[in-house]
Amino acid sequence: MQIYADNAATTKMSRTAIDAMLPYLDGIYGNPSSLHSVGQKANEALCDARERIAKLLGCEAREITFTSGGSEADNQAIISAARLGERQEKKHIISTAFEHHAVLHTLNRLKKEGFEITLLDVHENGMVTPEQVDEAIRPDTCLVTVMYANNEIGSVQPIKEIGEVCKKQGVIFHTDAVQAAGHLHINVREQNIDMLSISAHKFHGPKGIGVLYSRKGIPLVNIIDGGAQERGKRGGTENIPAIMGMAAALEEACRNMDKNNEKLTLMKDRLIEGLSEIPHAVLNGDRKSRLCSNVNFCFEGIEGESLLLLLDDKGICASSGSACTSGSLDPSHVLLAIGRPHEIAHGSLRLSLSEENTDEEIEYIIKSVKEVVSYLRSISPIWGDLINGRKEFVIK
Ligand SMILES: *Cc1c(COP(=O)(O)O)cnc(C)c1O
Repeated sequence: MQIYADNAATTKMSRTAIDAMLPYLDGIYGNPSSLHSVGQKANEALCDARERIAKLLGCEAREITFTSGGSEADNQAIISAARLGERQEKKHIISTAFEHHAVLHTLNRLKKEGFEITLLDVHENGMVTPEQVDEAIRPDTCLVTVMYANNEIGSVQPIKEIGEVCKKQGVIFHTDAVQAAGHLHINVREQNIDMLSISAHKFHGPKGIGVLYSRKGIPLVNIIDGGAQERGKRGGTENIPAIMGMAAALEEACRNMDKNNEKLTLMKDRLIEGLSEIPHAVLNGDRKSRLCSNVNFCFEGIEGESLLLLLDDKGICASSGSACTSGSLDPSHVLLAIGRPHEIAHGSLRLSLSEENTDEEIEYIIKSVKEVVSYLRSISPIWGDLINGRKEFVIK
């Protein structure tokens, strides 16, 4: 048995996405910049995909820039807003402590250049409020960047309201919507979003392709210098097969969103209910305002890595944080941001579902996690100290 419950790390490509790519891998191979007919066929496809994606995000085609994925889109959005701010002598940026590293590391780079970064405290439920953003905005603030949905704990932020605050105060608002696209409603106009990043491989599209939406009028700064592709804002021959796969995957995900979310909600609720029966366990992220695909727990007295390896032996693919952090011994910055102590943050488990999971799989996951947690606790000296009262439980 193989159960894939790591869809926040990446998803399996859908048949629809693969089928949409095939003609451009095997036939329509032209370079969209070429003037001849072979190139122009590719260019027609490119324009068509741009239109379709713009429609799904609620913007204009010329506000779409194709990038190599979510990370590049985050980099380009933040750097662009920072350079614009710099010219207006505004060098203050507001974000949160639980952003993806594509955002946090870009902000660190700007900090070294002399930008001032305010990272808003995240509440224990994994939420920030529009009021926090409002209070943090200063006359020299050039950008607010807050993620739509968190990739580790699944909490969904009040994006429209945060956008409204930024709009009123005249500050550019960017959101990393990589975990939201195809899973939650997006309309950049209605939600007061100036810039937004998405990535195809998080909604059953191909890897290595994403989109930066940026409202017309915001000047973009190149991350990749080169030819005149993407209105001169992103050099490099366009990856037409991937772009076509992304457009098809996003359309499919949006079309099936309500149906998928209904199914996911039932599976997620059952999973939370089942795992809550484990003693000294706590759910991370808000119970209500969360992705219906995300379940994230901390188990006291457990080491996350061992948990993952034993679950893998049972055929379950899960994660203990972001894929980028695993392999290092640092606990997840997201769990630290919501106030989990180091030793608790180490014992985390993220299960991120897709509509392809089944009720039987959910029951098997619950049974397996219970077994593995019991086993690991039975051989853990820390657990021994906890139940003998030599150490106090953190999770009651
Ligand atoms: C996966 C992810 C990214 C990075 O996207 P890539 O396409 O893999 O570069 C950025 N932000 C969030 C929230 C993500 O989940």
